[in-house]
Amino acid sequence: MIVKTFVQTPFQQNTRIVWCEATKAAMCIDPGEASPQITAYIRENELELKAIVLTHGHLDHIGGTSFVHEEFPNAEIIAHEDEAELYYSLPTQALLLGMPQQQLATLGMDYADPPKITRFVADGETLKVGDLRFTIRHCPGHTLGHIVLIEEGEKTVLTGDCLFSGSIGRTDFPGGDYATLIDSIQTKIMSLPDDFTVMCGHGPDTTIGRERLANPFLNDTYKNARGRFV
Ligand SMILES: [Zn+2]
Ligand SMILES: [Zn+2]
Repeated sequence: MIVKTFVQTPFQQNTRIVWCEATKAAMCIDPGEASPQITAYIRENELELKAIVLTHGHLDHIGGTSFVHEEFPNAEIIAHEDEAELYYSLPTQALLLGMPQQQLATLGMDYADPPKITRFVADGETLKVGDLRFTIRHCPGHTLGHIVLIEEGEKTVLTGDCLFSGSIGRTDFPGGDYATLIDSIQTKIMSLPDDFTVMCGHGPDTTIGRERLANPFLNDTYKNARGRFV
C-alpha cells in the first residue's frame, strides 16, 4: 500500500491517494480542494482511480470532489448514508461557519452543488482497492455519518476527524455529540492493536498504542482534570 498525503485548504486537511502497488488501483480519500496536484499525481503514477471516499461531509474534506470526479468520471463517490444531507449542503456550509458571503470566492469556498454520491457504505462492509481490503466502520460523534477505514494487513486505520494525534474531533458542529464520539473511538478504533498506524484528517500520523497511552481524551487525564485546566 502506498499513501500520498496532500495538505489542503486553510484548515490543513490531509487529502490522501491510497493505492495498491501490484494493481495500481487507487482511491482518493477526502479531496479537500480543487487541486491539480492530486490529479497530476494520479496520472504520473498511471493509477486507476476506483473511488473517491469521503470520511465525512465537512467542506474541508469534500471541496475537491467535483474537480477530481470531473477528471476521473469512472470513480465511484462513496460515503455513509447518514452523511448525505451534510455532503449536499456544501454550497451553504461556509456561511454556516460564519464566513462572509462576499469573501467566499476569495477563499475558494464559493462551492457549487457537489456530484451525486454513487454508493453508500455501512458499518462492517469491505471496500476493495486492488489487493487492498478496507473495513468500513461507522463512527458517529463528529458528524452523523462519519466513517473510518481499516486495512488489517497493512495495520493502518484512516480516522478522518474522529481521532487525531493527542486529540479528538470537534463536537460542537451540527450532528456532533461528545459522548457518541468517545464511544465510537473506544469501540471502533481503540479496539485495534497498539501497532496500528493512525492516519488522521488533520495533523501528523500516530499509532493506536501512543493514543491509548497519551491521548488525554481517551485515558482518564481529561476526565480527572476537568475544570482544573488553566
Ligand atoms: Zn470535520
Ligand atoms: Zn476536518
